[in-house]
Amino acid sequence: MAATRVIEIRTEIPGPRSREILERERKAVARPLIVHEPIVADRARGSTITDVDGNTFVDFVGGVGVANVGHNHPRVMEAISEQVERFLHTDFTVVPYEGYVALAERLGALVPISGETRGAFFSAGAEAVENAVKLARLYTKRQGVIAFEGAFHGRTMLALTMTSKTHPYKKGLGPFAPEVYRAPFPNVYRGPDAATALTALERLFTTHVSPDHVAAIVFEPQQGEGGFLPAPAEFVEGLRRICDEHGIVLIADEVQTGFGRTGRMFAMEHFAVEPDLMIVAKSIAGGLPLSGVLGRAAIMDDPHSGAIGGTFIGNPVALAAACAVLEIFEEEQLVDRAQVLGGALRARMLDWQSRWPRIGDVRGLGAMLAIELVRDPATKEPAPELARAVIDEALQRGLLLLKAGVDGNCIRVLCPLTTSDAELDDGLRAWEEALAVVLGA
Ligand code: PLP
Repeated sequence: MAATRVIEIRTEIPGPRSREILERERKAVARPLIVHEPIVADRARGSTITDVDGNTFVDFVGGVGVANVGHNHPRVMEAISEQVERFLHTDFTVVPYEGYVALAERLGALVPISGETRGAFFSAGAEAVENAVKLARLYTKRQGVIAFEGAFHGRTMLALTMTSKTHPYKKGLGPFAPEVYRAPFPNVYRGPDAATALTALERLFTTHVSPDHVAAIVFEPQQGEGGFLPAPAEFVEGLRRICDEHGIVLIADEVQTGFGRTGRMFAMEHFAVEPDLMIVAKSIAGGLPLSGVLGRAAIMDDPHSGAIGGTFIGNPVALAAACAVLEIFEEEQLVDRAQVLGGALRARMLDWQSRWPRIGDVRGLGAMLAIELVRDPATKEPAPELARAVIDEALQRGLLLLKAGVDGNCIRVLCPLTTSDAELDDGLRAWEEALAVVLGA
């Protein structure tokens, strides 16, 4: 195994300066936002974050899937500086700018949707989710939306309604938006299988909502917050068939799966069928807030003028960064790199699973991988306390990790796809040591 080359721990964790700032934070920042690692960032480069105490961590979180091209990629920084010199904002619907058009053209050519496409850009992922549903409703002249158990689509009111986790996201926040219906999502480890999930979805048309009332089925090709559950091909093909049968718009939420994460530029490329609309955000702009809906021209062009919009739709600086991100993907062949990283990560995780049976499952596509921790491999009882303990121990050893799953018992990888072999080795060594402390050597 490679010697430590990247991680550098100089103080106790958290260090004194981080502790001091976090103490102030408790008195100044709203309590619901305080759920993070007890370190304070000073700077970030590539796959590392250095805190205000001078400790350098390997980052397997990537700002929750935002740093696929790495933190502060020089090319992104350059594109940002150039745009900042020119202008910051006009409101695209008042005075348009070329970056918006260029990104719509370039992403339109990349997304796995055949025929003419159009793009629309916004700021947050949730905003794109809401606009995709608006577009589907206007096109179909129907109201119903089907979303899945374990889904995460964001925290604005319609997106939150579509999200499927009570604590901490939904508890106390109703009433939720009407006309959102829920169907089971397949889970290879725990069930249901794809056929059972599809049967339940079709049953919904008898028991809850007539299919000719449904505007859209919205799904994640691999659930993110829900626990890194890849959708089986049979399931995605079934969704396409059901949508075709009933004139429903199929919307793939690629906010977390997009931009190389799954070993394809977009996760929908793993499947033989296409969505009608795709939602993108997170890694699209190398760290700046930007989201988008890409989709079939017939659907995207249908609404009346002004039906979608917003002051900060498609910020020009973020759009310039997004164009740089696409160039980086090509030049550095990051989709291929995601497959290599994914192969190395999966091999190591499977090795851990054979050593520690309380790693009940190892799963995911490409470099979007997670381990699921259970109290007993026979009962599969979720073990969120083990996941938390491993994450805490990893932090002490200089690795940033994040949990996932409706039961909070999965640990996921969203590392930059620019992660070097040395950084990967270092991170995996810290993770393995943390597992040994928590699960026994
Ligand atoms: N959709 C998916 C699949 C996500 O993972 C997320 C965020 O994690 C969202 C939507 C919401 O994005 P945002 O937090 O930018 O609103």
